[in-house]
Parts: sequence; structure tokens; C-alpha cells
Amino acid sequence: MTSIGVFVCHCGLNIASTIDVQRVTGALRDHPGVAWTTDYKYMCSDPGQTLVRQAIRERKLDGVVIAACSPSMHEVTFRKAAQAAGLNPYRVEIANIREQISWPHRDAPEAATEKAIAIVSAMVDKVRGNEPLTPLTLPITRRALVVGGGIAGLTAALDIAEAGYPVLLVEREARLGGKMARLGTLYTDLDDGRRPLQQRIDAVTAHPRIEVRTHTQVTAFDGYVGNFTVETRPAKESDLHTDHEIGAVVLATGFDLYPKENLGEYGGGRYVDVIDSLQFEDMLTTGRIRRPSDGRVPRQVVWVQCAGSRAPERHRPYCSKICCMYTAKQASAYRRAVPDGQAYVFYIDIRSQGLGYDEFVQQAIEEQRVIYLRGKVSKIIRQQGQLEVWGADTLAGKSLRVHADLVVLALAATPSAGSDELARLVRVSTDENGFLAEAHPKLRPVESLTAGIYVAGAAQFPKDIRETIAQASGAAAKVLELFAQPEMIAEPTVAVVNERLCVGCGLCVPACPYDARELAPWKKLATVNAALCQSCGACAVVCRNKATTVRNLTTKQVLAMLETIL
Ligand SMILES: Cc1cc2nc3c(=O)[nH]c(=O)nc-3n(C[C@H](O)[C@H](O)[C@H](O)COP(=O)(O)OP(=O)(O)OC[C@H]3O[C@@H](n4cnc5c(N)ncnc54)[C@H](O)[C@@H]3O)c2cc1C
Ligand code: SF4
Ligand code: SF4
Ligand code: SF4
Repeated sequence: MTSIGVFVCHCGLNIASTIDVQRVTGALRDHPGVAWTTDYKYMCSDPGQTLVRQAIRERKLDGVVIAACSPSMHEVTFRKAAQAAGLNPYRVEIANIREQISWPHRDAPEAATEKAIAIVSAMVDKVRGNEPLTPLTLPITRRALVVGGGIAGLTAALDIAEAGYPVLLVEREARLGGKMARLGTLYTDLDDGRRPLQQRIDAVTAHPRIEVRTHTQVTAFDGYVGNFTVETRPAKESDLHTDHEIGAVVLATGFDLYPKENLGEYGGGRYVDVIDSLQFEDMLTTGRIRRPSDGRVPRQVVWVQCAGSRAPERHRPYCSKICCMYTAKQASAYRRAVPDGQAYVFYIDIRSQGLGYDEFVQQAIEEQRVIYLRGKVSKIIRQQGQLEVWGADTLAGKSLRVHADLVVLALAATPSAGSDELARLVRVSTDENGFLAEAHPKLRPVESLTAGIYVAGAAQFPKDIRETIAQASGAAAKVLELFAQPEMIAEPTVAVVNERLCVGCGLCVPACPYDARELAPWKKLATVNAALCQSCGACAVVCRNKATTVRNLTTKQVLAMLETIL
């Protein structure tokens, strides 16, 4: 005999202004198995939770249904409250009467109340069949993989190793450092970035807990949070591979510049004196500012901002975020190096958000006399060996043609080549532009949606070095949070196989979208990897022998719920 308590929350007026909560509690009073019902203004508040705890103790409840908001909001809260009162937390269920009823059915309070009664009653039927369960515990391999040896990967690797855990750092190029290795002075303080970068590379390569593999790629990936298996291969020797046991992964694969060849309208790839911004960085770091065509010092240099960015119809739709700032840096550096030279910057608008960033751009204009022209460049042509930049000065309201010895395209930053393949391999999603997607744009900015895999740096979106380092340290902190746990706790509401009924037909193996099932090699029996199982129930649907069920979501429970609702 069950003794279930039903607690209906008003959620202020969120629920109570649409649903007649007293009618719901009244209707549930007579539902089979229900021993106690009540309603309260805010069930998740301290007094609300006390109400639940007291009722469990005093009425000796052996099951609880909370009719309130989505389980993603407060399932854990109420399960903890029940556990504190001595009730197994898996004997608690949430009936979502806010997101699924009161909010979408505001215009139909009568029907909403009827629907609430049906849903809460069905949840009571489910709880009646719920077994008391204990969470599963899984071991954790305390070794991290960092993919990408730019400043993001170097920082994450060092932070994790310094905290005492081993790290495998995989970089596909021959050297560490990423794009930062091609930069000289950095905005906004104009300090040389090569020294601190080299110090960080030295610290990583000398670290006893960091194993660095350059010229290496991740070629296979399996497992789940705390227990991944990763195969790496040297770029050139495709037969030679190594397997590694890994607990957490930081993806720091950085960015590439949009190919200038795609910008035919600007002569990209056609005119050698139309170069990209990293080529200009190379000129600054070597101290040789020369036109590629004839080796002369350019006297008129034009920077074209938003080259390939903010162009949804033809190129990339987004703002690449870093180019306004590095253009101001490069144009100022050019003016310092060639004082009688002229620097022009075509821009749509200046995006210089950050500490001291706007002042830095103003200095370029006022102190270095860089000429900023507000307008988009329509095309770049070459006439009698001379480059001509066609644009508009929208502030002066006229079209412009500027002669240039050299044109620098501030090209869009794109996801690095092959990062989509890597994302598929490790089962991490990408956004609409191909960058690695975070789990939540505000609340979980360094986690991917795959547990145990984190993202850092420009692999997620164009970022400058300061932001990249902050995010890399954030990702490392998440890895350390995982490694600090004595073991991993997993939900026990997973699929199980009844050995007596399973004939080993294997139908359930391909049905599982999470690769959680396989046939045991030693006998004809399906097995479930509890760490991978997401309780979707697809295996239970295809099993003809009813040999597989999901704990606390059995066929009997589902049928009982349907009977009540229908
Ligand atoms: C022209 C220019 C000037 C700039 N100037 C400044 C400046 O003055 N100040 C500033 O703060 N920022 C500046 N930046 C921005 C700066 O370059 C970035 O913030 C920084 O490089 C981001 O670091 P990252 O590690 O995320 O990416 P990256 O530097 O791109 O490093 C990523 C690394 O991952 C590796 N990799 C990629 N895919 C794989 C894979 N599948 N397997 C293994 N390894 C892989 C790559 O080879 C690379 O080494 C500038 C950028 C440009 C283009
Ligand atoms: S950062 Fe500036 S130059 Fe780069 S895309 Fe955005 S607005 Fe254009
Ligand atoms: S479908 Fe059912 S009977 Fe067939 S292997 Fe899977 S659990 Fe066993
Ligand atoms: S419940 Fe879903 S995820 Fe779990 S084993 Fe079955 S099919 Fe796979």
C-alpha cells in the first residue's frame, strides 16, 4: 500500500493565476494511493520545503509528487528535502504544471486546471511504481587531454598540471604557440608578446606532468566523462598510433583567417600586394615592411576592416571582434616605422570594447595620424601597376578612390580547419558558424554539451589574448573541479537487462542513440554502459522479449499513466 503526498505550488501568480490550485489538490485527494495533499505559495522556499519534510515524517509518506515548475529548476531541491526527511529521493517526482500548463494555456484557465489534474494524477501513478534507488558511482581517470597548443591550450595545460594532474597536450603543427607566435607587439600596452609566450612554452615543455606531442592529431575517441579513450597519431606516420586513458578534455583549436582568395572583389589571391593581417604581422616582427611585388617600402598603406565579416550574403555574417583593435595596432606601428608613410583605414564602425581599447584607437587617430574613413570598400583594382581602393566616405557623403602601395585585409576569423571533424569525433556540437558551441551562452561558457569536454580560446569564437587566457583558466578550473571529486555520481535511472528474458538478438544495440549498449562477448546477452545511458527508452521499445526496461520508467508505469490521462 502506498502513501503518497501531493504538493501543489502557486509559484506566486505564475501558476495560481491560471490554474485553480485548490481544485487540483481537492481532486487529487481521492486519487488511489494519495494520503496527503496541500498547496503553498512558493514550495521551493525554505518554509515550502519544511512543509514537504514535515508531511513526509508526520504522515509517513512513501512517495511525493511536487506539482510546480520544470524539473530542471527544482527536482534536485525537492529530492534533497525528501532525503533529509528519510525518504528515498527517487520516490519523488515533479509534475510540471508551470512551463507545460499555466504558461502556455493562460487564455484557458478551465482547461488548464483539468490538464493539471490529469498530469499530477499520472505522476502519482508513476511514483507508485518507482523503486527506491541509489546513485551510481563511476571511477575518474585523473589525466587531461588538451587539443591545440596555442596560448589557450598552453594556459589550460599549465593550470591543470600546476594543480597536480598529468596532461597530454596535442598540437598538430610542428611548434607550439599558435597564432600568437606570429605576433610581435600586442595591443594595448604594445609590449612584445613573444617573450611571455616563449616563457609559457618553456614552462609547458619542461613540466614534469605535461606530455607534449607536436605534429600529432586525435584520430579516435570513445568513452564518457571521467573515462575517455583517445587515439593519437603523428601527422605523417599514419600507422603509428597510441591509445590514452583520459578523464577530461579541453578543446583549444583556435581560429584561421578567412582565405583572402574568397574575396575576389578585393583582389585577394590575385594581387600580391593585397595581403592578410598575419602577413603584415610578419612584416612588423621581422622589421621588414616591404611590398611583396618589388620589395619597396610602401608609402601608402590601406587597411580594409570587416573583410569577409559582417557580410551574411557573401561571406561570414558575424563581427570577428579582434580586427578593429589589431588594425589600429598595425596602422600605428606602420606610422612609427615609416613616419613619412600614410595609413588609411576603411571601417564600417569601430568595435573597441575593453579596458583602454577605445583610447587605443583614439591614439592611432590623434597621435599617429592614421586616417580613418567611414565606409565599406566596394572593390580594389589595379591600374597601370597601381592598386586603387574604391570606397565611400559616408561621413563626408562622397565616394572615394585611394591609391595604395599595399593593402592589408583585416580578414574574418573562422573556425580552424578540421575543427568540425574533431567536433564530430568527440561528439561536441558547433554553432551555426562552425565554432565549438558552449553549453549555455551565459551560465556555462566554458563547458560543451558533452560532459567532461570543455572549450577554450578562439575555437569558441574570435577572442583576443586576454579573453583567451581567462577562458582557458576557466576551462582548466572545470577540469580540476571534476578531478577533485572522489568519484563520479551518475543517475541510477538507466536501462537494465533482464538476463532471463534476453535472447541476445541484438536489436537494441543499433537502436541506442548513445552507443550505450552492446552484446556481451562471452554470452548472448545485451549489456548497458550505465555512464552512457541517457534513459531515452529506445531499447525498451525495440525489445520484443520485454527484456530491457528503464528503471523507474517501466512499461507498467507508462501504461498506468496513460490510462489515467486518456
Ligand atoms: C593579425 C592578428 C593580430 C592580432 N593581434 C593581437 C594583439 O595584439 N593582442 C591580442 O590580445 N590578440 C591579438 N590577436 C588575437 C590572437 O591571435 C588570439 O587571441 C590568440 O591567437 C587565440 O589563441 P588560441 O590558442 O585560442 O588559438 P590559436 O592561436 O589559433 O591556437 C590554436 C592552436 O591549435 C592548433 N590546432 C588546431 N586544430 C588542431 C587539431 N585538430 N589538433 C591539434 N592541434 C590543433 C593550431 O595549430 C594552433 O597551434 C591577433 C590576431 C590576428 C589575426
Ligand atoms: S572587429 Fe571591427 S573590423 Fe572586425 S569584423 Fe568587427 S567591426 Fe569589422
Ligand atoms: S533487444 Fe531485448 S532480447 Fe534482444 S538483445 Fe536487446 S535486450 Fe536482449
Ligand atoms: S535507455 Fe536509451 S540511452 Fe539507455 S541504453 Fe536504452 S536506448 Fe540507450
